[in-house]
Order: sequence, then structure tokens, then C-alpha cells
Amino acid sequence: MYALKDQLSAELAAIEADGLTKHERLITTPQSSHIGTTAGDALNFCANNYLGLANHPEVVAAAHAALDEWGFGMASVRFICGTQTQHRDLERAIADFVGTQDAILFPSCFDANGGIFEVLMGAEDAIISDELNHASIIDGVRLSKAQRYRYKNRDMDDLRAQLESARDASARRTLVVTDGAFSMDGYLAPLEQICDLAEEFGAMVMVDDSHATGFVGEGGRGSHEACGVVDRVDIMTGTLGKALGGGSGGYVAAHQEIVDLLKQRARPYLFSNAVAPAVVSGSLKALELARESDEGRTRLRANAELFRTLMTDAGFELLPGEHPIVPVMFPGDDGARLASDVADAMLRRGVYVIAFSFPVVPRGKARIRVQLSAAHSEDDVRACVDAFVAARDEVG
Ligand SMILES: *Cc1c(COP(=O)(O)O)cnc(C)c1O
Repeated sequence: MYALKDQLSAELAAIEADGLTKHERLITTPQSSHIGTTAGDALNFCANNYLGLANHPEVVAAAHAALDEWGFGMASVRFICGTQTQHRDLERAIADFVGTQDAILFPSCFDANGGIFEVLMGAEDAIISDELNHASIIDGVRLSKAQRYRYKNRDMDDLRAQLESARDASARRTLVVTDGAFSMDGYLAPLEQICDLAEEFGAMVMVDDSHATGFVGEGGRGSHEACGVVDRVDIMTGTLGKALGGGSGGYVAAHQEIVDLLKQRARPYLFSNAVAPAVVSGSLKALELARESDEGRTRLRANAELFRTLMTDAGFELLPGEHPIVPVMFPGDDGARLASDVADAMLRRGVYVIAFSFPVVPRGKARIRVQLSAAHSEDDVRACVDAFVAARDEVG
């Protein structure tokens, strides 16, 4: 035991020495655009609370009511005695919104991605994955026995080359999998071209839309809507832990047979507790709000556009796009330190943003990732830009 403690201490010290220790800030309020922390109040620009639903009064009210109507916990996996009628209601509502035949709920999207590949893809099959896909896709692919291929981020020539390799290896099934929106850049996957290529090679397409469901696309249905391929994507996964209330839970939305088979075979579904009743009710309400009104999306888009315009005018370098993830770039050798110092200086001014550097993003491409929300007012957005300018002046 003492040897183990020494080894782990050394490992922790190495993480600290590399400047990679993640320190958790303690929040003292509900999740919102304005939060309290043990280190003071802050304007929050780093939550995935895109539509401002995490503390929306109607979502909170629905969850409150659910405690009385449905109780606190399920104390069962879904297939034993853990499925209330509202669990099925939520699955149908998700399928309807995303545009698939059916959907299956998981405890999280991490679990949805962790469970799906092993069920659908065997040793005679091929999975072709974007190199920047989320950790849960990488882990899920590892848990399957399928042959693995990786293509450069959004690189359609490389995807074609990998599809050719899989075909040459006589794969039975081939599945192309990509994030719908990439979390470090805010870039959308080129889904129309991906679907074209998949069709040419007889492959299936799976999209993880965790950073898109609810707000990307005209009706907020996701990246497949934005790219005009709602009917061409075979499998959509996503989370209830971001725009759709930010509670917890994930899903696979797909053809009926895929959903049915996952209910029989997916291990995180079979062997983990059902999503809690209050979270189901709150998520149903969040989904209803996201589906039936453009108000949140309109405000979110206006905020992202205003932020991008003001920051560009102030001379900051941004990655282009329209996504509410806006990376403010600090390129070069000194970028990692600068980004981190600017983020610290902003927090002292009451604006909470996070700096990312290698190995989370490529060397020389350090950035502060700003995430806009419909919960932000125009004044909040302007205050964030002002803090960027002041922090840059301070840090030099
Ligand atoms: C956040 C995220 C997940 C994990 O979702 P949880 O429901 O929090 O487990 C999976 N995939 C992508 C692309 C994500 O951004």
C-alpha cells in the first residue's frame, strides 16, 4: 500500500509539474449565466447551457412536480422494473425531434457511445472514426471487436481512403462515425459529403450531436438538419446534459431494429440504473421548450454573432463559424501561457472562461473557449468582451 501511495503521489506530482492539474471551482448557486463561486461571483461563459434551460423556471417546475408524481429514484435498471411511462414518452419525443423511428435512453451519452459499437459491430466489421471524436466514441470503439480506421478531422479525401481500405479488407458492415459539432473548434462535420461517401461505399453513418441537439439547424434538430441530411444519417447519439436542460442522460436515436437490439444487448442500458424520474420530466419539458419555440435559438445566435463581431473588432483572432462555441486563439510558442494568464485575469474581473492548450488541442493552437448561451443578455456579452480587452492589456 505504501508503495502504491508513493507511485500515485509521483504521478500526481508529474501532472502538477506539467501544469495539467485540473482544479475544480466550487459553485454556490444553480447553473446560470451569473453564478456564485467560493472565489466570488462570476459571469459564466464556459457552460454547455446553450439554450439557458439548466435553470429555466418551467424545467425546474416540471422536475419539482415529478418528485411528487413519480418519486425520487427508480432503484432498477430499465428492463426489470425501471421504465415509467414517461421514460418511453421521452424516448419517443427524442426520436420525433431528431427525426428517427425510435430512441433508447442511456444514463449518459458516454454510456450510449460506450454501448452501441459492441452491439452493432463485430470482428468482421469496420468502424471509421474522425480523429477528433469524443473520448466516449474512442472508448466505445475499443470495446468492440471491429476493425478500426481513423481519418483526419473532417478530411474527406482521407475518409475516402479509409473507406477504400475497409472495402479492400472485405468488411461486412462499415460504419462512419463523427461528432456533429467538434467541441474544441465549434466546427460542424461536413455531413452532406460524409453521407455521399458513405452511400457510395454502402456504409452507415453515425453522428454524435451532443454539442448540437436543440440549437444547431433551423429548428434546432441538430447538425444533420443544418447540413440537410436528416433522412440520411442512420444513427444519432446525443446528451440531455448540455442544451436540453443539462440534467443527465443520453440517447441513441435510430432505425427501429437498431433501437430494439440495443435494448436487448447494450451493456450500459442493461446493467445501469434508469434515469431518475425528475430528470426525465425536466428533460421532457426542456425538449418541449426547445422544439416549440425559436426564442432561445434566436437569442443564442444573436449573442454568438455579437460576440464574434465585437471580438473581431477588438483585434482578437477567432476560429470562424456560427456555433456558440467560439475559440479565441492564442497562437505560437507563448500561446499556452498567454491564454492561461488572460483567463485568470478575466476571472479576477468576474468573467469565467477556460483556457485550453496542448495536449487537449494541438501544440501552438492554445485558445480560450467561450461558450455563449441564450441566458446571456447583450450586456453580459459586452462585459465578456470588455474583460477580454482589459485582461489582454494587463497581461501584455
Ligand atoms: C458531452 C459529450 C458526451 C458525453 O455526454 P454525457 O451525457 O455527459 O455523458 C458525448 N459525446 C460528445 C460529443 C460530447 O460532447
